[in-house]
Amino acid sequence: MSAQIIDGKQVSSEVRERVAGEVAGFIADGGHQPVLATVLVGDDPASHVYVANKLKACEAAGIGSVHHELPAETSERDLITLVRALGDDDGIDGILVQLPPPDHIDPDAVIAAINPAKDVDGLTATNAGLLAGGRPGLVPCTPAGVIELLDHAGTPLEGAEAVIVGRSNLVGRPLISLLLGRNATVTAAHSRTRDLAGVCRRADVLVAAVGVPELLGADHVKPGATVIDVGINRTDDGLKGDVDFEAAVEVAGAITPVPGGVGPMTIAMLMANTLTAARARSASRAAGQARDHAV
Ligand code: NAD
Repeated sequence: MSAQIIDGKQVSSEVRERVAGEVAGFIADGGHQPVLATVLVGDDPASHVYVANKLKACEAAGIGSVHHELPAETSERDLITLVRALGDDDGIDGILVQLPPPDHIDPDAVIAAINPAKDVDGLTATNAGLLAGGRPGLVPCTPAGVIELLDHAGTPLEGAEAVIVGRSNLVGRPLISLLLGRNATVTAAHSRTRDLAGVCRRADVLVAAVGVPELLGADHVKPGATVIDVGINRTDDGLKGDVDFEAAVEVAGAITPVPGGVGPMTIAMLMANTLTAARARSASRAAGQARDHAV
């Protein structure tokens, strides 16, 4: 029997519409228009497309945007100075530095300069620590999108066996915390895992975030499992996920395609995070004013 196909494009557009409605409601209730600052260094064509799409999504959601485009030879120090200035700028709610930067810039040093309250990619040590501790913060967009897709598919998470293949800071690790937060029993598999197929076959929920085209096949999938494929791999045969879709679709209960699965969710969750950051900043400003009046 063929699995239910989880349509990431549809879920993404639902999330973006929901956020647009919430942005309008926030402003109608006296809030400010949320503003995202994007920073792009260099000429990488793919990065330019990604940023252009993020700016378009902002416009559709009623979120303001400010774009900074810097030449490839920009120094790490100048980039960090800009990122810190955006962090101090009261008119900016979210900061997105498009990664990866050119080779002479250390991405970790740039991430460390982002004001955690505006870290809409959820990459700073502060937000990673809050997530690991099960406390509210800004959650990385791709893993947040995975949870949104699982909820849309109606996959039960409480008590479920979840196996995540890949332990990157961007996807695998935050997912461990998000799925634990939903009371799943979580296994993190990686490049040194023995008997990867056996571990994966335990999973009611199998998430692949590896970067190896079609690494996981029918042998890795428990019949009826929900399979979420985060992989985006450019091959001579076109875009491929980390899961052999044709094989896995015959075994899984529900599965995301590539493209059209997790990919479209990242921008949607970026819009949601920008609104979350704007709300939190507005609330902390109001709390500060209340304290000022009290003294
Ligand atoms: P990464 O290279 O940082 O991490 C890959 C992980 O996979 C590592 O933890 C490694 O241990 C594990 N791994 C590598 N080879 C393995 C093997 N043979 N068996 C088991 N585990 C293995 O990658 P990443 O940034 O997490 O990205 C993973 C994939 O997801 C890539 O294809 C990337 O393009 C894609 N991605 C998509 C989105 C999106 O949809 N918006 C966002 C981020 C990443």
